[in-house]
Amino acid sequence: MRKTAVVTGASSGIGAATARRLAAEGFNVVLAARRRDRLDALAKEISEDVPGAGKVVPVTLDVTSQESVDALAEALSGGCHVLVNNAGGALGLEPVAKADPAEWQAMYDTNVLGLLRVTKALLPRLIESGAGHVVNITSLAAHVAYEGGAGYNAAKGAAYMVNEVMRLELVAEPVRITEVAPGLVYTEEFSLVRFHGDAEKAAKPYEGVPEPLVADDVADCVAWAVTRPAHVNIDRIDVQPRVQAAPHKLHRL
Ligand code: NDP
Repeated sequence: MRKTAVVTGASSGIGAATARRLAAEGFNVVLAARRRDRLDALAKEISEDVPGAGKVVPVTLDVTSQESVDALAEALSGGCHVLVNNAGGALGLEPVAKADPAEWQAMYDTNVLGLLRVTKALLPRLIESGAGHVVNITSLAAHVAYEGGAGYNAAKGAAYMVNEVMRLELVAEPVRITEVAPGLVYTEEFSLVRFHGDAEKAAKPYEGVPEPLVADDVADCVAWAVTRPAHVNIDRIDVQPRVQAAPHKLHRL
């Protein structure tokens, strides 16, 4: 029987790559995000291009809305074995002295409360599956501070702590908890969203970086963690491009 994986934030970047990869690994995949047109296009692409793909189901989801999260849980007709909490991102790069509380609030709502809402809604199904797995995509920013990063550092740091607490609380349940914490990943939208569509600012973090990670590298980490035997819990994967040693320590050409 095929297992089902739900991937939030599947409409672009790491989430889309993870959905593709999990489909290739034999999972039925539920693609969840706000932009339905992109999910529909990805569902078609996976069904047509991924050899042996199972069911691919797009579901419109806003992780900041409890109603929307409840609708996701209802839309899951079968079981759920894997939940990849990937929806999220950064807003702004201002120092604390100039930071916008509304941006911090939005980052917390998506990266932390979003993770809470979706995990809470799907946890009964994950437990019921007998071999559930929650994979939380945090960031290197969850573990290492950088100037201008405080709001994102704080949100991803909080997500890291939720991850740690869940592993303690669920130790008697058949559910694994994994954190994947990537460094610099080149994805089309992450930086554009962070800088509110300013393409020039968005290009800066990647400037001169010969080979940042790409979304498939992170998808690879997720796929590896979820395909270990059910008794093996990969607690955390820290992954950076070779040319990065810390958020602020990148070798640029
Ligand atoms: P993208 O901006 O490409 O992807 C973000 C995804 O999250 C989109 O699919 C977006 O879909 C979805 N999303 C955002 N808000 C919501 C919401 N309220 N409800 C549902 N879905 C939402 O970025 P990446 O792929 O690069 O990032 C994916 C994850 O990895 C994020 O959590 C990010 O913080 C993390 N990360 C990224 C790194 C990088 O360098 N790129 C490094 C480390 C971690 P839609 O707009 O359609 O809802």
